[in-house]
Amino acid sequence: MKRNVSLDEISDGRLYTENDMVKAGCNECQGCFSCCQGMGDSIILDPLDVCRLTQGLGCDFQALLDSHLELGVVDGIILPHLKMAGTEEKCCFLNEEGRCSIHSFRPGICRLFPLGRYYENGSFQYFLQKNECKKTNRTKVKVSKWVDTPDIGRNREFVTAWHYFLNECEEMCQASEDESFCRNLNLYILNLFFIRPYESVETFYEEFTERLRRAKKDMGC
Ligand code: SF4
Ligand code: SF4
Repeated sequence: MKRNVSLDEISDGRLYTENDMVKAGCNECQGCFSCCQGMGDSIILDPLDVCRLTQGLGCDFQALLDSHLELGVVDGIILPHLKMAGTEEKCCFLNEEGRCSIHSFRPGICRLFPLGRYYENGSFQYFLQKNECKKTNRTKVKVSKWVDTPDIGRNREFVTAWHYFLNECEEMCQASEDESFCRNLNLYILNLFFIRPYESVETFYEEFTERLRRAKKDMGC
């Protein structure tokens, strides 16, 4: 999701790599679940998130849409996001003890928080959102440890490829004067990257790379 705010307004003014230390550690949240409620449609999922969720819960994408997810439009592209439910607008995966019930396969944005990604020149770095986490005595932690994602180099390649692919799709939609083009493109992306099941989390990156290659060929980009 593109945000029209300056980095200086929302961050500590620094950019971080996976090897840097960042003041994000919140001592396992200790009873706080502030960032698991009232998040609206902002916890947007990528294909790896959906692969992890369908494998972790043993269900398909449609079952997730019937329960824990919703579809929304992000910069012209239809993408799934976590559903906030009830009067308190809590994430559907938050349990009665205020803990994440899917911690080991939680989405990438949940792994990052309160970090964000800043994309530039075909890559990205991390930034620390200064007013988002409610804990005030946060400790320093290595970014790679905080993000808690196996094979982080490969994950970086995937995250980057997905981000710039969506950018290209968005530009194609904006440039097209044919309304049905965007509708069909969105259906194509949903089908190829989200609805069609992935074999396993272990083979996800290979499967994604093949699907991306096919999409780019079909779209001529
Ligand atoms: S998936 Fe887990 S960590 Fe993410 S918002 Fe929901 S309860 Fe919180
Ligand atoms: S706001 Fe900070 S302390 Fe609270 S749940 Fe989120 S990351 Fe944990």
